[in-house]
Amino acid sequence: MKFASRLHPHDPVSFREALFSGLAPDGGLYLPVDHPDLSTLIAGLDESVTFGDLAAAVSAALFAPEIDAAAAQRIARRAFFFAPRLVRLDGRMLLLELFHGPTCAFKDFGANFLAACIEELLAGERCQILVATSGDTGSAVAHAFYNRANIDVILLYPSGRVSALQEQQLTTLGGNVHALEVRGSFDDCQRLVKAAFRDRRLRATLRLTSANSINIGRLLPQSFYYLHAVSQHSTLRQKRPWFCVPSGNFGNLTAGLYAWHWGMPVAGFLAATNINDVVPDYLKCGVFSPRPSRHTLSNAMDVGHPGNFERMEQLFAGDWRAMKTVVKSGVVNDERTLWSMNQMHRRFGVLVDPHTAVGCAVAEDFIEEKPRRDAQVVILATAHPGKFAETVKRATGEEPELPERLVRCLALPKQSVSMAPELAALSNYLLETFA
Ligand SMILES: *Cc1c(COP(=O)(O)O)cnc(C)c1O
Repeated sequence: MKFASRLHPHDPVSFREALFSGLAPDGGLYLPVDHPDLSTLIAGLDESVTFGDLAAAVSAALFAPEIDAAAAQRIARRAFFFAPRLVRLDGRMLLLELFHGPTCAFKDFGANFLAACIEELLAGERCQILVATSGDTGSAVAHAFYNRANIDVILLYPSGRVSALQEQQLTTLGGNVHALEVRGSFDDCQRLVKAAFRDRRLRATLRLTSANSINIGRLLPQSFYYLHAVSQHSTLRQKRPWFCVPSGNFGNLTAGLYAWHWGMPVAGFLAATNINDVVPDYLKCGVFSPRPSRHTLSNAMDVGHPGNFERMEQLFAGDWRAMKTVVKSGVVNDERTLWSMNQMHRRFGVLVDPHTAVGCAVAEDFIEEKPRRDAQVVILATAHPGKFAETVKRATGEEPELPERLVRCLALPKQSVSMAPELAALSNYLLETFA
């Protein structure tokens, strides 16, 4: 695979180059120039193929000759010491649990793969990973890169907009992990990161690398669990499933669309959002109008300007009607989110976090529509319910168990630097600390 920005489509770069620079020199996102046909590889997958082996095989197919089979094996082994789990709820709905990694959210998959790739490809140089996070990204990235030689991680998170547990996960590692508490919104954090990558002085002095879902090294491995899910159930291999994706910045959904482009058999995708509904609005009326994000219970999805929309649009060559045939959508407010959590508990005995609950509600509505009575819907469960214990308790009356690895981090002291939402502040900090 090669990658190029929208403004310079005839100037493609390698996987390695796209991985380390994060954004193209013109400030644009890297978009795949072409999509390989993996349908033969995909047809050969079944229950006997482990997630790690699938990841290695697909990586080798995507990134050859830059990453050969042996390197792909090393990367997959280092990255994926955990795997997704597919749980059937009833005849039509399945949960794809993506929260069995170190920080109990799906972002562990992308972050760990990215860290393993950078480790594989970093030939003794030093680099700084710069990340804006609305909650889960930062902790996944921090844990994935923690204690790796020659790598510093700088996290920007919006002050007061992440949960207490998320903040602990972001700020307690120390060492090569530096947390910046920005006095602004997630969109401010994202804007600052983009501005830093464009800043000439910073680019000349530091080797900045992004680890947001804008980095293709994080985005592409998220396609692996879609492929894995389809291979895990004979029903899903015979009957094309719908994937219902709780979405904010739309990295997860974009990764699913990539898997579809490579030949994954799928009926379509359901984009599930909270009231930050820029993409559902686009699907309805064909106009993309970003706006300030609004605060909700599913806070990792509070994104007013979804960064990956440009990539979705590219896949359909800007054709709104074409996108609408593959991507359906649903919008869920906080009240419905709580209700959905309650219903999931009462009907199936499962506790889901508020992000997953948004997906469950959209899947439920979709199935209720008459013509699709026999649809198979795989809902991506994006976070462990224990990470949102208060909301789970409020919705269901049940106290979810917190995984041991999260209990431990709650007791550690917070280490962070407070910062104004301005490039000058970030730039000074970076130059003083790392130049
Ligand atoms: C990040 C996140 C999402 C949204 O994923 P995108 O790829 O940004 O659309 C959903 N749920 C949880 C728990 C998350 O952390």
